Amino acid sequence: MFEEKGVNKILYGGDYNPEQWDEETRDEDMVLLPKAGVDIVTLNVFSWAKLQPAEKVYDFSDLDSIVKKVTAAGMKICMGTATAAYPAWMAKKYPDILRVDFEGRKLKFGKRHNACPNSPTYRKFSPHLARKLAEHYKNQDNIVIWHINNEYGGSCYCENCEKAFREWLKNKYKTLDALNDAWNTPFWSHTFYDWDEIVLPNALTEYQYGSKKSQLPGISLDYMRFNSDSILQNYIDERDAIRSEIPDALCTTNMMNAFKGLDYRKWAKEIDIASWDNYPQRFTEPHYDAFAHELIRGLKGGKPFMLMEQSPSVTNWLPINSLKRPGEMRRYSYVAAAHGADTIMFFQMRQAPASAEMYHGAIIDHSGRDDTRIFKEISALGEELKALKDNTLGGKAHAECAIIFDWDNWWALEDTPGIPDTVKYLDEVLKYYRALYESSISVDIIGSEDDLSKYKLVIAPTYYMVCENTVKRFEEYVEKGGNLIFTFISGYVDENGHILRGGYPGTLKKLIGARIEETDQLYENMESFECEGVRIPEKIVESHNSFKYKGTEYPAHIVCDIVYPEEAEALAGFMSDFYKGQPAITKNCLGKGCTYYVATSSEARFYAEFIADICDYAGIKDVFDKAPVPVNSWNGIEIAARDKGDIRIYYIINHTNEEKELEFPYEGEELLSQEKVIKGQKLKLSPVDVKLIKVASRD
Ligand SMILES: [Zn+2]
Repeated sequence: MFEEKGVNKILYGGDYNPEQWDEETRDEDMVLLPKAGVDIVTLNVFSWAKLQPAEKVYDFSDLDSIVKKVTAAGMKICMGTATAAYPAWMAKKYPDILRVDFEGRKLKFGKRHNACPNSPTYRKFSPHLARKLAEHYKNQDNIVIWHINNEYGGSCYCENCEKAFREWLKNKYKTLDALNDAWNTPFWSHTFYDWDEIVLPNALTEYQYGSKKSQLPGISLDYMRFNSDSILQNYIDERDAIRSEIPDALCTTNMMNAFKGLDYRKWAKEIDIASWDNYPQRFTEPHYDAFAHELIRGLKGGKPFMLMEQSPSVTNWLPINSLKRPGEMRRYSYVAAAHGADTIMFFQMRQAPASAEMYHGAIIDHSGRDDTRIFKEISALGEELKALKDNTLGGKAHAECAIIFDWDNWWALEDTPGIPDTVKYLDEVLKYYRALYESSISVDIIGSEDDLSKYKLVIAPTYYMVCENTVKRFEEYVEKGGNLIFTFISGYVDENGHILRGGYPGTLKKLIGARIEETDQLYENMESFECEGVRIPEKIVESHNSFKYKGTEYPAHIVCDIVYPEEAEALAGFMSDFYKGQPAITKNCLGKGCTYYVATSSEARFYAEFIADICDYAGIKDVFDKAPVPVNSWNGIEIAARDKGDIRIYYIINHTNEEKELEFPYEGEELLSQEKVIKGQKLKLSPVDVKLIKVASRD
């Protein structure tokens, strides 16, 4: 991704905040960091107060000195724009920059990630600083990419946002009639007669009794879209300011996993290289970590991304922050590379002397020593990455299976009253992803608008919100031989959140070949509650339902859609209650392909069985070109692959603390040890170990 900048290996390094240190310490760092194998540092992420100490004063002298030292030490630079926390003088002089929170409280100066995205002050000063930085450093050849702001997020409910929201709505709907129709405002006398009557949906308006569900889902869905767009505009403001000085500058911003607040798929269109910050904890399941990497990779059509941050050891923001055990930092690094990362970067290079992140892990800890466990592990990985050279750079996953992940659907599904609180979009997506991951099947995470034709199977979990043109594309895909899986509560509403006419699953009915008349929401382990006059006196541990698939009984959780097949055939039926015998899974063929509908949520052993069957039917192979078998008890070995032309690199990762063995089916070369691998060789994997095997031919 940075070949033109002379980069021919995985870049290794991360956030460096020397503003907090004296010259002597900085000079020590210039020796220690290259010693650890660091060849890139991210500078200037939170330096606004230093760069602009007063409204008309810009002072880059300290940053110049840091850039000079870093350059002399032979390191590349990922250059921050410093706009994720504004100076105190700015908040005092221009209070429009302060956010108003969900409860309607005007905030004061403090924390970070704190600017109102529609503040005229912020929109003036942040791109101005970005432009000045670009002007100042445009000839600094070792800057490989511009890192705009930091971990964008949050929301604001101030008057400027309210005004901007009305403009956004005017642009979208053109007329109030169209808006009133889209939001179904005759309900509860919500008709708007003037744009100025529209107020932002928050705790003071449409969210009552501390509920997370909006009483006017249409306005809330539009607000979420608007808020994401507003913050994206902040990114675009800065990017365009940089480009006005450096037309070919590469720009990114560090994203955060499956982050609900921002529609990253829309953001990705404006970003040159996707990048993100990964902070797995000891309780993070391996499939979730892999999913997050693949979600980010999918934003730019499968191109390699930057792992912008991870901790070398410990984080600081959880109630309990446990250490990464020996070997775990290396393992997490290769998991990122296995799923498409072409940089391995950390927060942070040196542990802060005070403040919120002083206990966050770093390559150089408070002792300043180069013989700590962490420094030694970082240095060892640095050596490995040097030896890997460009072997893995640019490789892409070859996936025959995709999972659709859409922010609009996520927002609408979880924000609408009547959809049970127990429905969690991300959880449902992960259930399917996990079955594929543990079977070593490559998966792309895509959006509804992406090209489906290259996949043999597309899974759209809880595909609640359906756009008309998407349905046509789905139908074409299936008719030409594609296989689709939908799951419960799919096909309910259109892009405005209006119920699709004619009953569920609305416009997906031709594909699914069945109608869904009712949905039973299951009580499961509910604590006592009282709401609107309804009181549940004590804990309800009522059961789930169950269904039988291929002779095995599986639990049905969360909801049971009551399905009446028309063209579809039933593959499994519910086992109790008044809808006993109604299908829990259906299959409907259209043209050369088939659509499956799973009317409930279950547990891992069901997904393992079901996904293996569908993959077998669809002709999907695992990364070893074998037909998948159900993985009911995963052995803890992750196997992923990236292709570069005819060459495939296998990443074999032991997620357990035990010795493992794996028979490798091809001849190849293990890149970390540079040892030959013979076809059929039993590879020995020590605890948390990783092997990278380059295979030229898979005969
Ligand atoms: Zn605001």
